[in-house]
Amino acid sequence: MDLAYFATGYDVQLPEWISDELAGVPDIIPDVAERMALVHRLADRNWREGNGGPFAALVAETETGRIVSVGVNVVLGSGVSSAHAEVTALGTAQRRAGSWDLGGDDQPEHELVVNWRPCVQCYGATMWSGVRSLVVAGSGPELEEITTFDEGPMVTDWAEQFEARGIRVTQDVLRDEALAVFRAYRAAVDAAEVTVYNARAGD
Ligand SMILES: [Zn+2]
Repeated sequence: MDLAYFATGYDVQLPEWISDELAGVPDIIPDVAERMALVHRLADRNWREGNGGPFAALVAETETGRIVSVGVNVVLGSGVSSAHAEVTALGTAQRRAGSWDLGGDDQPEHELVVNWRPCVQCYGATMWSGVRSLVVAGSGPELEEITTFDEGPMVTDWAEQFEARGIRVTQDVLRDEALAVFRAYRAAVDAAEVTVYNARAGD
């Protein structure tokens, strides 16, 4: 085999507009609803910019609310199907922290904030990341119903599974605002203005 045939790595980069979006944002956001509001702003801009789906996340230090990283879904921008918002937020947080384990003894406690319950892939990615807390805007079937994305075969006791592994789950933080982002995205899908990259489920 010729190694030149194979890729030996891949890049997952956050889009350049992220730095504009973060320019006026304080380093520390003590209120969790305000952290979620930032996630919603990033999610809404993300699909409008064409980077990927209407999804964003951030990692914060739980105690202080210091923002460690942000992530958006860059599946379309990167050409990598696993580049979901949780994965990019956790990966950049781990790069920033200098560790694959955000729950290590030398680390402050970390929290992942996402604009909906993780999909089946990000369920695992979150579990292995070392975060001690997961905050989601919502967790019902509305995401799939509105956006048509397939979130995979999630277990029904996903929140209990997190809790059993020492990861606290907080739900329904700015839920209506999450649905507003998804509905705006859906309107653009119906108008054939954006690509849904994983709508393989159903017909
Ligand atoms: Zn995901």
